[in-house]
Amino acid sequence: MQQYKTNGRLYLQSEPFLLTRRVSHGFTSRLGGVSHGKIEGLNLGFRVGDNPDDVMENYRLVAEDLGLNLSHTVLAKQTHTDCIRLITPEDMGKGISKPSDIEDTDGLMTNLKGVPLVVFSADCIPLLFLDPEKEVIAAVHAGWRGTLKEIGKKAVAMMEREFDCNPQDILAAIGPGIGPCCFAFGKKDAEIFPPEFVRETSPDKVLVDIWEMNRNQLLDAGLSPKNIDMSGVCTVCQQHQFYSYRTHKEHTGRQGAVIMLR
Ligand SMILES: [Zn+2]
Repeated sequence: MQQYKTNGRLYLQSEPFLLTRRVSHGFTSRLGGVSHGKIEGLNLGFRVGDNPDDVMENYRLVAEDLGLNLSHTVLAKQTHTDCIRLITPEDMGKGISKPSDIEDTDGLMTNLKGVPLVVFSADCIPLLFLDPEKEVIAAVHAGWRGTLKEIGKKAVAMMEREFDCNPQDILAAIGPGIGPCCFAFGKKDAEIFPPEFVRETSPDKVLVDIWEMNRNQLLDAGLSPKNIDMSGVCTVCQQHQFYSYRTHKEHTGRQGAVIMLR
C-alpha cells in the first residue's frame, strides 16, 4: 500500500486499485483535519461528540483530496454486525446530505458510479473491495466481532450472488487497524478466536492477529493471494497518525475507508 500526502493530510491507497483507474479510494488518517480538542484531526465520525460542522468540513476535505462526489456519499450506523447493504439510487447521500436509515449495517456495496461508500473505524479493520470486471465495489468494517462473523467472506459471497462476480477477479485492500503486535487478550477471553491466529506471550496473555484472520477468510472465499493488499499499519503503534480506540478510549475520532466507482 502506498502513502498519498496532500495539504498536510495522509492517505493510504492500494496500488492494484489505482492501476485499474476505475475507482477513487483511500484509507484516511487523523492528520490535517479541522476537528480539535481530544479528537483533533480528520475525524469522520458523527457520533463521537465532535462538532458536526467540523466533521462535515473533514468530509469535504477528503472528498476534495480523493476526487469524491461528496453529496452522494453514503454512511451507515455500524454496530459490529455482519449485515451488508446493497446501495440503490434512493440511498445516495444518506448520512451526508440527508438523514440515514441505514442502521445495524457494517458493509456497503454498489455498482452505481459516483457514489462513495464509507466505513469508519478506530482500531477495527476496514476492508475495501473492487471487481474491475463487473465494476462492483464494497466497503466493510471488520472489528474482532465482525471478523469472527466473517463479514469479509460474506461480502465476497454477496458480490458473487448479486453481481455474478468471480472471486478470482476481486481485489481487496485490508486497511490500518490494530495489529498482532498490540491486540492483547486474556488467555481465557481469546478462546473465541481460532487458535492459529493466537500467539501466547505469557502464561495468561495472548496476542490475536485479526489482519491475518481477515486475509485468510478472503483466501477461503476464493480471492487470489496477489489480489489481497494488506497495509500492515497498526493504529495503536501509529497512534500519532491514526485514531486508536484502545489508546484514547472514548476520546477518539474515527478514520474512514472510502471507495467510489468513477
Ligand atoms: Zn501495534
